[in-house]
Amino acid sequence: MTNERYKDITVGILALQGSVIEHEQALARIGVRSVQVRKREQLENIDGLILPGGESTTLGKLLGLFGIMEPLRERIRAGLPVFGTCAGLILLAEEIEGEQPHIGVMQMRVRRNAYGRQIDSFSVRERVAEFSPQPMELVFIRAPWIERVYGEARALAELNGHIVAARQNNMLVTSFHPELTDNGCVHAYFADMAVAWKQTDKNK
Ligand code: GLN
Repeated sequence: MTNERYKDITVGILALQGSVIEHEQALARIGVRSVQVRKREQLENIDGLILPGGESTTLGKLLGLFGIMEPLRERIRAGLPVFGTCAGLILLAEEIEGEQPHIGVMQMRVRRNAYGRQIDSFSVRERVAEFSPQPMELVFIRAPWIERVYGEARALAELNGHIVAARQNNMLVTSFHPELTDNGCVHAYFADMAVAWKQTDKNK
């Protein structure tokens, strides 16, 4: 059922590869309508877009093949709220260690698979004040970390001295996977960004 607060918004989920269903379910749990996005035309009818985890090299290639890369870049620059988790975070970064095709709009430098093989998947409980006053479970799966943010980007969460969540205006990224836990606070935070944009966007 749609939450009254979110009744006017539809959040797209880029559905070329990766953990699409998990984001659909996470949005449904907090009462946000979602739609899978595979075509450039679909970018016009959404109020926010989630770039899911998966394999960023594959996702980057598919964005080019499906003709979505450039229109998506333009929509983000025009203010479309985007939320990148894990591989989605990598795609948004201006700088990736080791070049690969990507969207490249957010002022940060990232390191892929930064946690290496030893602990390439793990979960921790941490408090991230921006999202919730309560500690929450952060799930990392072959995750990147953010080496540094610059310009207008700011860090929202750090783990052992490395940035694992950040925001730059309409762009939100986490190197962990909030869609894999029952705690909907990060998706609600993003849905609120979409609501705010919908209200201020005069073109709609
Ligand atoms: N290791 C993947 C990459 O570099 C990201 C992993 C994920 O999205 N869970 O693209």
